[in-house]
Amino acid sequence: MTEYLPIAVLEGDGVGPEVVPVALDAVSRALAGQGITLEPKALPFGAAAIASHGAPIPDMTLAALDAFDLWVVGPHDSASYPVELRTPPPGAVLRKQFGLFANLRPARAWAGVAATAPDIDVLVVRENSEGLYADRNMTVGSGEFMPTPDVAMAVGVITRAASERIAIEACEAARRRRGHLTIVHKANVLRLTTGLFRDVCRDVAQRYPDVRVDEQHVDAMAALLVRRPADFDVIVTENLFGDILSDLAGELSGSLGLAPSINASATTAMAQAVHGAAPDIAGTGVANPVAMIGSVAMLLRWHGRRTGDSRVEAAADAVDGAVAHVLADGIATRDLGGTATTGAFANAVVAQIG
Ligand code: ATP
Repeated sequence: MTEYLPIAVLEGDGVGPEVVPVALDAVSRALAGQGITLEPKALPFGAAAIASHGAPIPDMTLAALDAFDLWVVGPHDSASYPVELRTPPPGAVLRKQFGLFANLRPARAWAGVAATAPDIDVLVVRENSEGLYADRNMTVGSGEFMPTPDVAMAVGVITRAASERIAIEACEAARRRRGHLTIVHKANVLRLTTGLFRDVCRDVAQRYPDVRVDEQHVDAMAALLVRRPADFDVIVTENLFGDILSDLAGELSGSLGLAPSINASATTAMAQAVHGAAPDIAGTGVANPVAMIGSVAMLLRWHGRRTGDSRVEAAADAVDGAVAHVLADGIATRDLGGTATTGAFANAVVAQIG
């Protein structure tokens, strides 16, 4: 049984140094309640790593990450880096180098938070390693290129193997949730690529007779998420569609500042809030820490399931329960119409965990 839980911490840029430490605080408190000590190991990343090591993701960080199953990663603000260091973006390097193929992005409404969709509770399972993402879908070179200055092209990649492993993730998640899976594609137009994705998902889903399966074209799905969000549970889709639909779902649930996520392989998981570095509010102490706190709670749940340690899952439940309680009490950061600072909100969560 785990007594110490080592975790790699990359604070990142913008609001990262504000939301990452308070998220670790809350989670550490909940783990302590289960007799487990969180052992965070800070590693250089982002603008601070450029200053100290000359690169946003130094080799020593990549080497050190190898020794950790669990990472907490803040946002990066590549646009602020010297131009020669802006690509590839550090997040893409991490996902690609460590094969973090599954991006799990839940979005749910919270009592006490005004949401466009007050009954939304969905999980977007986004394939994270291929599709049209030019920085991930080639071993050498880029999936985007320009034959002439006036012509730009992109190669989209969909493979049977990557579709199968994400479909399995999604079916397993549906089984843990409300047992409903929606396969999202655009196979009426992108017949071969998203058609293959759809067909593989259909085949995998047949192994899960307890999961109810349906499918939608991505454009219809966007409309239906707004019109009747309560009809959906787990949505599995390819990379670009998943990126867009998960932002939509997060916003429908109240604010991007509420949207958590993890990126996972079979052996490693990275907690990273859906939002970016939010440079417009960085340093002002008003960032909403819920997305980051929720991401670390997801990380614990992933680890608890994988290792069979129910105490770690109980700690995740305690964190989520505390956040729900604080929001229901009307304590809220500015993005939700409240006046609580990042620190005040996080303190309320920690006090609630007890
Ligand atoms: P990226 O491309 O890295 O995702 P972005 O510029 O598209 O970044 P964000 O950095 O997420 O997007 O910022 C989008 C908007 O959401 C900004 O107005 C920002 O202030 C707001 N925002 C993002 N995260 C939070 C948060 N945790 N709390 C409050 N507001 C946030």
